[in-house]
Amino acid sequence: MVQVCVAFGANLGDALATVLRAIQEVGALATTQLHQASSLYASAPHEATGPEFVNAVAIYDTDLPPLDLLEALQNLEHVAGRERLFPNAPRTLDLDIIFYGDLALATPRLTLPHPRWQERAFVLKPLAEILPDLVKEEWLEKVSDQEIYRL
Ligand code: AMP
Repeated sequence: MVQVCVAFGANLGDALATVLRAIQEVGALATTQLHQASSLYASAPHEATGPEFVNAVAIYDTDLPPLDLLEALQNLEHVAGRERLFPNAPRTLDLDIIFYGDLALATPRLTLPHPRWQERAFVLKPLAEILPDLVKEEWLEKVSDQEIYRL
């Protein structure tokens, strides 16, 4: 079993219901169990457009290999109706793997840990809630201009 962190974001449709459902859906993937989920947060679009996002992060235990997990997450995004109309377009559901155990990987399809997670308040804030030792105070200070609040 490997401990993995998945970040959830949605800013179209019923974003709150979509994120809550997706947290459970990832936990229902083969050989995967939900360990802990953060609260839900609302954030202003960052490197994205459209209405406010609903965000969360969750920790899972899984036996799925990294690319299988990515494929399963992309399938859930697809089922949630995500359309990639243009880069950074509003999205029904966005799922990112933030880390996969302590695996470091840089391939065209998957980079682990996620290359920009330390620059994103919508990852750092919820993660600080459930794994406080992992999130440095200085990282939170650097993203303090990114609007985010707990729902
Ligand atoms: P996005 O549009 O932000 O959802 O980016 C999705 C693309 O990023 C996909 O084509 C993935 O193959 C790629 N990607 C690279 N690293 C990761 C990661 N750690 N988690 C999720 N997607 C990733």
